[in-house]
Amino acid sequence: MKKLVVLGAGESGTGAALLAQAKGYQVFVSDKNIITKGYKQQLLDHKIEFEECKHTWDKIKIADEVIKSPGIPNHIAIIQALQEASIPIIDEVEFASRYTKASLIAITGSNGKSTTTHLAYHLLKAGGLNVGIAGNIGTSFARKVLLEEHNYYVLELSSFQLEHLQTFKADIACILNITPDHLDRYDNQLNNYIAAKFRILRNMIKEGYFIYNQDDTNIREYLVKQTTNLPQLYPISLTQSTHHGAYVENNHLHFVGDNYNFQLPTQTLPLLGKHNIYNTMAAISIASLLGLSYASILDGLRTFKGLPHRMEWIANVNQVSFYNDSKATNVESAAVALESFTSPIIWIAGGYDKGNDYNVLKPIVKNSVKALICLGKDNQTICKAFKESNIPIYETQVMQEAVSLAYTLAKPQDIVLLSPACASFDLFKNFEDRGEQFRYAVQQLLTSIN
Ligand code: ADP
Repeated sequence: MKKLVVLGAGESGTGAALLAQAKGYQVFVSDKNIITKGYKQQLLDHKIEFEECKHTWDKIKIADEVIKSPGIPNHIAIIQALQEASIPIIDEVEFASRYTKASLIAITGSNGKSTTTHLAYHLLKAGGLNVGIAGNIGTSFARKVLLEEHNYYVLELSSFQLEHLQTFKADIACILNITPDHLDRYDNQLNNYIAAKFRILRNMIKEGYFIYNQDDTNIREYLVKQTTNLPQLYPISLTQSTHHGAYVENNHLHFVGDNYNFQLPTQTLPLLGKHNIYNTMAAISIASLLGLSYASILDGLRTFKGLPHRMEWIANVNQVSFYNDSKATNVESAAVALESFTSPIIWIAGGYDKGNDYNVLKPIVKNSVKALICLGKDNQTICKAFKESNIPIYETQVMQEAVSLAYTLAKPQDIVLLSPACASFDLFKNFEDRGEQFRYAVQQLLTSIN
């Protein structure tokens, strides 16, 4: 019986352990932290052996193969020891891919992964394909493969999930954008991070399709160095037309395939903001490459609702619109959010500052923001960063206060936007909790003035 060790017992690790057991492996799960109750119960229910709060080398070194959860960095002692012992380390995504014959659509990028993955999934499902959705998005790929059978999978993949791919091969791969992120995992080298993202093309030697953002310098410059063996290229662009792929010209989104072209007016696109045009171009390209008709894509776009906490419209209170973009945990995503509106914005920002460089936001704030409300532990950093912007800046640690204050400052047609540019775990459990508290505060406001 083949022995498999799984390091980390979160969603990926537990999903992998369950799939491995079902496929006849002898499985041992090792987590150096306390295992969350729900996952521990699943391991107990399936009589999968595990340990927590430690890694016992004697139990790990006997593995034929080790699945490393994506959150575990490569430089820690246990991984080094495995490498020295020449024990193969793989990703959960790699493992799961061995047990499905489905066509794989793999999506990565620094921002926009969830939106694009959901939209592509929605379009394919609306087009009648038997499609599953998995990855960095809730349910691990391994768990999905264990529980469901599909002809297609749309996978959201972070760079961490791409690091140890071996035989995994996507049919369609997509890189949405690359901006510096998680560099602590990549020796502070942007190029290492870019290389990890490009691993999504692994094994696609002159086969399949690669959808990528042609306007992104990091992607473009890396791609020109990859001269051979690439899949068929499908660039997306907002600045130039392309022979294949998707672009926007004269307020129309154009898709150009091998023997299939169409265009649709940009005002029919379901999501707000320039960044979402890229996401939509990527999703439309995926749907088109899989043979979906123009009519079906149009229908899918019409019925797509968007995801919560990403530029989510919450309510209109006396002609002031409230938007929840709590998922904007970095400067780039807050920038694209602020650029999405033409009306003046009361901007609620802040949280846990991960060492942000706010310079890129300064000209945008100057143009679009009429007041800034800092909400979080690191208010001082944000106040300091924008003190020369000549806008009123307020501070609070309470969501309800931030929302009421924003409403007091707003005039009809103004926008109140929660787009923090910071992590949420200073005052909230996570970005979802932050977004839900915003929604609740807006609802309270609505009740109080009606
Ligand atoms: P991810 O899964 O990569 O974190 P999401 O779709 O959840 O991406 O979006 C995260 C945040 O990034 C949201 O605030 C959203 O408004 C912003 N965003 C979405 N798409 C893009 C894009 N293509 N470029 C830059 N920012 C984006």
